[in-house]
Amino acid sequence: MTDRYEVIVCGGGMVGAATACALAHGGIKVALLERFNPERQWPPEPIDIRVSALTKASQNILEMLGAWPGMVQRGVCAYRDMRVWDARADGELHFDCADTAFSELGHLVENRVTVAALWDVLDGIPSATCITPAKVVDMQLNESGRQLHLEDGRILEADLVIAADGRDSALRKMAGIEVTGWDYHQDGLVATVSTENSHQFTAWQRFLDEGPLAFLPLKNGQCSIVWTLSSETSKSYLALADNDFLQVLEQASGGILGKMLDVGPRAAFPLRFQYANRYVDQRLALCGDAAHAMHPLAGQGVNAGLLDAAAIAELVIRTRQEQRPLSSLRFLRRYERWRKGDNLMMMSSMDVLNKTYSVAAQPLADLRSAGMNRVNNSALVKAYLNRYAMGLRDDLPKLAKGQICW
Ligand SMILES: Cc1cc2nc3c(=O)[nH]c(=O)nc-3n(C[C@H](O)[C@H](O)[C@H](O)COP(=O)(O)OP(=O)(O)OC[C@H]3O[C@@H](n4cnc5c(N)ncnc54)[C@H](O)[C@@H]3O)c2cc1C
Repeated sequence: MTDRYEVIVCGGGMVGAATACALAHGGIKVALLERFNPERQWPPEPIDIRVSALTKASQNILEMLGAWPGMVQRGVCAYRDMRVWDARADGELHFDCADTAFSELGHLVENRVTVAALWDVLDGIPSATCITPAKVVDMQLNESGRQLHLEDGRILEADLVIAADGRDSALRKMAGIEVTGWDYHQDGLVATVSTENSHQFTAWQRFLDEGPLAFLPLKNGQCSIVWTLSSETSKSYLALADNDFLQVLEQASGGILGKMLDVGPRAAFPLRFQYANRYVDQRLALCGDAAHAMHPLAGQGVNAGLLDAAAIAELVIRTRQEQRPLSSLRFLRRYERWRKGDNLMMMSSMDVLNKTYSVAAQPLADLRSAGMNRVNNSALVKAYLNRYAMGLRDDLPKLAKGQICW
């Protein structure tokens, strides 16, 4: 027997779970499929190495979905300042929440916290069905809908399928949607570290020859590091003994947080610039990393994905309220027009920044430092960048503005 839903979301990570949650709040009969049963509880320490900086717009979405209280209860860390500087010259940028209408610039949150809180909310909404473990291995399109075949033999069908199954999206490949992109030949090396000096609830980022090194504040006083390195260097740093790693890290930090005292497990993620050439197909939409993967230097990947989630949910709910079919390509194209341009703009900015700071030549370092200092001294430009980085742009989906869409 084939189970039927109005919408099936494949992938129960942050973006897929948020999409399903928004749709379910809107009364849409939705199934969320995830191949791994997500963790809901864990001991307070250690903090997980997968952490994301969430913007104000993302916070608005998660608040509207009802997930934010569960996240706060599990632990989030507000950051009030952001300091960015160039190791090769004297350029420096300082963003301060005092220059905004908010008491913080954003929050650092373990990815598993966001996922668990969203799944908790989904448990309480009657129109949502969470199916896990459930690995999609095949997808068919027929007259009545899209069919998804699970590894265990089950078959599910829906008017619309939303693929939120990550950067290597199997559904995107099954639909024959090509991607454009390239490898950076860089890794994002991540770890949790203890430092001698307080992080001061500040996100620190130092641009080095191989890429930026970020120290992101955590709720327990430790920092999460995201260090962009060439693939070879990253491999060699992963192999170092803890003490040797702490030494190279301390040197790379420029001493900004004093001595590096302790480090937990380390992992490295190969970085890619990639976007799906189409975000939609018949009865199919791509969201989050399935649609776009970007350099993590400004921590925008999942923030962009949550905007996708809010946008597609708003359009599906409106289409259903207007009693138009969810199979309509018209509203799906609207979703693509709404999100693709914004995502491409964000990805390209990250790409340009990464390339600009990868050039070690001193004249260019001096030039970019002069540019940084000019921006730092211009209240107007900084206010614009602040709002952009906080996700508070024009044409946001309702949820991102703190309004319900159902
Ligand atoms: C080092 C690093 C640091 C980062 N820091 C930040 C940051 O500070 N801020 C930020 O905004 N972004 C950050 N990002 C980006 C962010 O992590 C991603 O954008 C985000 O995780 C994407 O979420 P997603 O839900 O789209 O995909 P994923 O998190 O990849 O989730 C996809 C889900 O789909 C499931 N799935 C896959 N295939 C199937 C299948 N066939 N059947 C069923 N389920 C399936 C997977 O199990 C998974 O749970 C960072 C990335 C890196 C690498």
